[in-house]
Amino acid sequence: MNFEIVLASTNPHKVKEYREILSKHGITVYSFSDLNLDLPDVEEDGKTFKANAIKKALNAAKYVHFPVIADDSGLSLKALKGFPGIKTARFAKECGNQINANKEIIKRLEGKSHDATFTCVIALANLADKPLIFEGIVKGKISDSYKGETSFGYDPIFIPEGKGKTFYHIDKNTKNEISHRALACKKLITALKVNNLI
Ligand code: IMP
Repeated sequence: MNFEIVLASTNPHKVKEYREILSKHGITVYSFSDLNLDLPDVEEDGKTFKANAIKKALNAAKYVHFPVIADDSGLSLKALKGFPGIKTARFAKECGNQINANKEIIKRLEGKSHDATFTCVIALANLADKPLIFEGIVKGKISDSYKGETSFGYDPIFIPEGKGKTFYHIDKNTKNEISHRALACKKLITALKVNNLI
């Protein structure tokens, strides 16, 4: 059975990961650009990942009639009381670019706990009366050093628990099994299976 879903994101890394994770379960992921639509801008002014994910999904649902998912994700640092958290994307912008943001995090954690979590909250709209929510959280640590590698956001400095290597250095199949996004997707997949949609 093929289940079609629209992803409300313009982030090519997110689009790629959702496709890699969900295609194995018979789910086809379309981006707004696949549908020749512009994703309307949303101000991410919610106080939680969940509030922002719902806002993004409901906003996107006005433009498509398919089930639509949006995610809000971010890095939370124990030593900085959860910062940047929901401000993770904004923090990178404020630092000028992602390389500076990664370096700045390592600097701010000097002599402090490197414990961190990565959170992903998926909101699924246009399927039930209310958006359905799926959360994934992966524990880990921030690396001690950073050579300036770039890939997806904070991947080069986040070491998931038990792996000893950053998301940047582990292979993509492993990231797609254990990441915050993978864990949220597992819950989404279970919900679709329970409802006989996949
Ligand atoms: P948003 O979910 O679009 O608000 O952005 C989340 C922020 O977290 C962005 O700065 C992303 O680059 C970053 N981010 C989200 N997921 C990942 C990931 O899997 N790896 C690295 N960075 C990520």
